[in-house]
Amino acid sequence: MKLQEYQSKQIFSKFGITIPRGNVAATASEAKQVAEELGGRVVIKSQVLVGGRGKAGGIRLAKSPKEAEEMATQILGMEIKGLPVRKVLVDEAANIQKEIYLGITNDRSTRKPVMMASAAGGVDIEEVAQTSPEKIIKVHIDPLLGLRDYQARDIAVSIDLPREFWRSFLDTARGLWKAYTQCDATLAEINPLVITADHRLIALDGKMVLDDNALFRHPELGDMRDIDSEAAAEIEARKYGLSYIKLEGEIGCMVNGAGLAMATMDIIKLFGGEPANFLDIGGGASSEKVAAALRIILSDPNVKVVLFNIFGGITRCDEVARGILAAMTEVKARVPMVVRLVGTNAEEGLRLLSDAKMITAETLADASQKAVAAAKGA
Ligand code: GDP
Ligand code: MN
Repeated sequence: MKLQEYQSKQIFSKFGITIPRGNVAATASEAKQVAEELGGRVVIKSQVLVGGRGKAGGIRLAKSPKEAEEMATQILGMEIKGLPVRKVLVDEAANIQKEIYLGITNDRSTRKPVMMASAAGGVDIEEVAQTSPEKIIKVHIDPLLGLRDYQARDIAVSIDLPREFWRSFLDTARGLWKAYTQCDATLAEINPLVITADHRLIALDGKMVLDDNALFRHPELGDMRDIDSEAAAEIEARKYGLSYIKLEGEIGCMVNGAGLAMATMDIIKLFGGEPANFLDIGGGASSEKVAAALRIILSDPNVKVVLFNIFGGITRCDEVARGILAAMTEVKARVPMVVRLVGTNAEEGLRLLSDAKMITAETLADASQKAVAAAKGA
């Protein structure tokens, strides 16, 4: 579960990280009121769960409460990467001298949390990671010992942080570690952490992703879920108990079992394609669930072909086939569909689908190649 910037920063603040003064607003007049309370220049920041808001015009500087109201009107009317802006954060504007990146996530290969920092913080950290990875410092944290002060100091030295900021950097790093562990986060990130003209170190942006499987331990965090601003497809998927993650490719995938879904994505890539999503319909999927899954996959305009990879065990292939047929009466099949069904009641399933003009395949390799070819328009 992703938290909005204002929620992440409120959590950071509880753990001793300095954040700008500010408040969230749902209307332009509320934004104006917050700007009046803050006095001086403010930034109006769209609260949407995607990155790159700045570049999309979702972050604006206002010199007066009146200007804040105007900009909030504009921003509250925007859609950023398909998500409507329903709230803005109005923060006192910072006079930025330097932008730093600081984040913690899990490093699966070392099976440890890793703190990452860079002197090249700001909006283009992904690009820095691609083009000059050496500019990103990584320090692994022993989960039992926690972040040690010497590690935070090492990071401060490595990013050439002037000594006058070490103390507050240490507080920030410790606070971020506490926020990360105590909230069961999988990501806690400040980008940018800025040095201001008046010599303060402030977390200007904040991002947290919480582990859904640990939310039962934090009901108060679960309540922060902002249904309004999540992708419609993900809300729909959760309603039906489907694990759906949208990706950037063109091959929609419907698979039963998370491991098989991962393998399916790997094989698609092996044959030169890109998956449009991860979708696990789970075991014993009813036709209703399959229909919902197909609707969700086809709601993504990037999808050029759908690949069904079903291993019938508990999930019966005929049941899945009925779900596909049911879904196709509701959702117009605007793309080719490739099906691989094996296991329990596979023959029955294939027979049901034989009239549905679907491309069938015997093996996963065969199915993937057919899907990749269909996506490429061959
Ligand atoms: P993101 O684009 O979604 O990551 O949003 P950020 O909160 O990181 O803001 C993007 C950029 O806007 C920052 O890197 C800053 O350069 C700029 N920005 C944000 N807040 C302020 C502010 O208070 N003052 C100034 N001058 N720039 C700001
Ligand atoms: Mn940012």
